[in-house]
Amino acid sequence: MRLSKYFLPILKENPSDAQIVSHRLMLRAGMIRQAQSGIYSWLPMGFKVLRKLENIVHEEQIRAGHNPMLMPTMQSADLWRESGRYEDYGKEMLRVTDRHGRDMLFGPTNEELITDIFRNNVRSYKDLPLTLYQIQWKFRDEVRPRFGVMRGREFLMKDGYNFDVDKASAMQSYNRHMVSYLRTYERMGMKAIPMRADSGPIGGEDTHEFLVLAETGESEVFYDRNILDLHLGDRIVDYENWDECAAIFDEWTKPYARTDETHDPVLFAQIPEERQMKSRGIEVGQIFYFGTKYSESMNAKVITPENSEVPIHMGSHGIGVSRMIGAIIEASHDDNGIIWPEAVTPFGVGIVNLKQGDEVTDLACEALYKSSTLLGIDPLYDDRSERAGAKFASMDLIGLPWRITVGPRGLKNGIVELTSRKTGKSEELTPELALEKLVKIYADL
Ligand code: ATP
Ligand code: MG
Repeated sequence: MRLSKYFLPILKENPSDAQIVSHRLMLRAGMIRQAQSGIYSWLPMGFKVLRKLENIVHEEQIRAGHNPMLMPTMQSADLWRESGRYEDYGKEMLRVTDRHGRDMLFGPTNEELITDIFRNNVRSYKDLPLTLYQIQWKFRDEVRPRFGVMRGREFLMKDGYNFDVDKASAMQSYNRHMVSYLRTYERMGMKAIPMRADSGPIGGEDTHEFLVLAETGESEVFYDRNILDLHLGDRIVDYENWDECAAIFDEWTKPYARTDETHDPVLFAQIPEERQMKSRGIEVGQIFYFGTKYSESMNAKVITPENSEVPIHMGSHGIGVSRMIGAIIEASHDDNGIIWPEAVTPFGVGIVNLKQGDEVTDLACEALYKSSTLLGIDPLYDDRSERAGAKFASMDLIGLPWRITVGPRGLKNGIVELTSRKTGKSEELTPELALEKLVKIYADL
């Protein structure tokens, strides 16, 4: 992409209405614009990052054996009356009446709709276990929408639902989700700690939240520092192997890690003092097992091998895809702007032309732009007639992990400069070597 042709409305000043750094930077970097309180338009660069996160989520869900699908945003109130949640959900639910006077709602989550799909289509244990998921917009009329996409009213969520014949199989689904979520966050370049949590209105007992540590997080968290050392890395996981999933679950849930809702000071005090960590975190996902709560009220049953009819065991799982972008920026930025992890960066490299209009420099930049595009590095070429300082400031603000700077002086010796956004360190290289290095970095992700 050429910056001269890209819609990237960068703001020079700090927007006064943004209280936290990720909100400020998303506005300044031209990623989002507020449409109404808690409702945002995703401008091209914000949309590009959102799509990258969605892709990672899809890849990891499909790898775990889950089925992607898509449900509507508008749902019938009658289904929610069946489960009893239509009244319970309260003011967070946006309720609408259609022209025929039928009550509808903009889905805040989808347990009822998916249970309805399940009960109308599945009869036998032979079709289980089954996990269905989607990535779809949700609406919750939050009392205090704030912090930009972090607590919006309309937000993008991956929501998944597992159906199992009994509790043992449902717990395997729970563990499998734990593993797939750990992988998902790691691939996004993030550390999200699973913490024992409270189940709230969804109901049920087994639930973990995934938290990214950040001072601006809304949750208070307590954990054993040892949990920070755990990595899945490039371990190959057989998602159908119950023992393997359970072992990873145990590994990640053994060290103490809880939110304030479930915090137990006595247990916490048993951890060696130097490992007792207290901080704040952003909830970027949650998994639940809630048994037969919905299947009983909504009559979703299957025939067992023994030929009896039993209510199915269910769980649900969510990743806050749009909130995740805020969390990534909270965890990865400096005074000059965003620092994207390579896995989710909107562009792989920024090309800065130091002397736009100079024939030799323009030609070199065009060549770099073409070859990096062909190599799949996805460059953003700053071809505007701006001063070098302004170009650097824009690149730093939007936070691409790598920058190639091209100027007449370097070109005389056949070199360009490759700079890391994170370390600020530069190397002088031939254009070919700079590209080779980037190809390797992105191939290794
Ligand atoms: P919170 O406690 O932050 O209100 P929640 O526990 O009600 O969230 P879930 O029902 O667990 O939310 O939804 C799954 C994920 O969706 C959350 O972990 C979070 O990352 C994201 N999410 C929930 N509410 C919002 C919101 N208002 N704006 C953006 N993302 C949200
Ligand atoms: Mg939650």
